[in-house]
Amino acid sequence: MYSHYISSPGNTARILSKYGIKLKKRLGQNFLIDTNSAKKIVRCAGVNSKDIILEIGSGIGSLTQIILGEAKKVVCVEIDELLVRAFKEIFSEDLRKGAEGSKLELIQADALKLNYSDLVREYGINKIVSNLPYSIAATLLLKILIEAHNLEGLFFTIQKDIAERLIALPGDKNYSSYTVKASFLADFKFCFQIPANCFIPKPFVDSEVIEVHRKENELLKDPDFDIKDFFDFINACFSHRRKKLVNSLSQSGSRYCDKTELVIELLSGINKNRDIRAEELTLDDYIYLYKELNT
Ligand code: SAM
Repeated sequence: MYSHYISSPGNTARILSKYGIKLKKRLGQNFLIDTNSAKKIVRCAGVNSKDIILEIGSGIGSLTQIILGEAKKVVCVEIDELLVRAFKEIFSEDLRKGAEGSKLELIQADALKLNYSDLVREYGINKIVSNLPYSIAATLLLKILIEAHNLEGLFFTIQKDIAERLIALPGDKNYSSYTVKASFLADFKFCFQIPANCFIPKPFVDSEVIEVHRKENELLKDPDFDIKDFFDFINACFSHRRKKLVNSLSQSGSRYCDKTELVIELLSGINKNRDIRAEELTLDDYIYLYKELNT
């Protein structure tokens, strides 16, 4: 293990230079260079000696090192070959397997291609603590929520614009199909903000640490419920964002194309005008429409 905090600006610079690492925007490589923020994330997640933590996008281990100091075990996922090589050298001792296995595991993989149900089961993971790569954060968050059940805690550091999409209300400019899907799956609590200058390279916006609570709603418990089909319906509703909902649906190329009259009738049943736009309906409205259109 590195004897000083990796997350100090000086140590990060030294590691990047030693391994010839040029940070890639494409992979959302904005590394945390503020040890206090890293410690605050770990405190906020209540990481303790019983926890087996999944960290997605471990980079050179800036956050990993702090989690490792508190947790029973950390399972890291990283896609970048060069970062993996550096990480393996920095954490060589922790990665070494003793009689009871190792305290640290590193999986070189694309986080979008893993199955989180399998991963959680295989390693006994009970919490996820990650500073997510910007490029895939929004998609990955939904994937994890769909696949990983029974986790005690999910704590993500994400850029502010994504956080705003998660908590937008109907009518807000950030309210989108993504908001509806995310709010179907979970509640989001803002923990604290991390200023952009705590990362290298400095992103355009600040980041938010959020706590995510997966919802256990009736539909998710229904074995016949197909979440992909529900999300396809939401996508069809938002397919022409500035248009009226009924027009979006009729031009969506989906199986709802010829259901305009029924949709108008259903909207009227919940006191909504036939001219309403997708961004004006709530999650409950969407659940109602979907159920009615599919019974
Ligand atoms: N954990 C480090 C920190 O807090 O400084 C790095 C976080 S950085 C925001 C995101 C990390 O995710 C980068 O190391 C990047 O290479 C990695 N990454 C990007 N896309 C990925 C993917 N599809 N699968 C796994 N890791 C990915």
